[in-house]
Amino acid sequence: MQCETCHAGCCRAYNLFITIPDVLRISNDLGLSPEEFVDIKTYGESEGSSFVAKCPGILFSDASSEEQRFFITLRRVESLLIPNTIRCIFLNEWERSTPIEKRGDHPGAKIIARCSVYGSRPKMCGLYPSVLDAAGLLSYIRKPAISTLSKSNEIYKVCPEDWTAADFTNDAEKIVHDHTIDKYEWRFQAQVIEKWNESPRTKAEFFPLMKRLYKARTLATGERWSELFEETD
Ligand code: SF4
Ligand code: SF4
Repeated sequence: MQCETCHAGCCRAYNLFITIPDVLRISNDLGLSPEEFVDIKTYGESEGSSFVAKCPGILFSDASSEEQRFFITLRRVESLLIPNTIRCIFLNEWERSTPIEKRGDHPGAKIIARCSVYGSRPKMCGLYPSVLDAAGLLSYIRKPAISTLSKSNEIYKVCPEDWTAADFTNDAEKIVHDHTIDKYEWRFQAQVIEKWNESPRTKAEFFPLMKRLYKARTLATGERWSELFEETD
């Protein structure tokens, strides 16, 4: 698969909007607090209108304006090997002893790039570049979006070769299942954020409350989820 020799343009070019379960899983698996690897940003600082459509922005009682809506993204930091470029905080990079000949002068030809949280990575990282069809029954490979950053450096260009359906044959079933879970999580998250936004609290209160709330998703008969939300005070 081309990812094995790629410079991981996808882990550099995109602002990654991630779900709350993605954050809680990485936090638990790595023993990190969410604040160490996520950025909570207003939409003006981010990209990705399709994610804004999936889930309302979060209101916080300690934001500078009552109307400001925030989104959870995976933090991007400066690349140590490619000066003046950025990468996902979890992308590890090494110099190749022998550059990949067929990549020519591309800066990625001299780099090995690997996800350091592969087993815990956000669902959408594993699903890229496939999307679920409108009926939610099949996935298909989409042409990767071109990031505006790719004008500044070739390292932001994604997927050196075109994908074919054959590249995904072995994982076809898992991909559709993971898309279905991801779709459910965005819908559930939209419900959670709408409830949070009815009486916003501070940024510091957000993830501790989400941790307790997401653990309580199987209710006893007669319990109501909305009441549970209040009980987590
Ligand atoms: S979490 Fe891993 S796969 Fe996802 S963008 Fe970061 S480095 Fe890439
Ligand atoms: S940019 Fe494309 S080929 Fe490269 S690592 Fe990402 S998905 Fe794989």
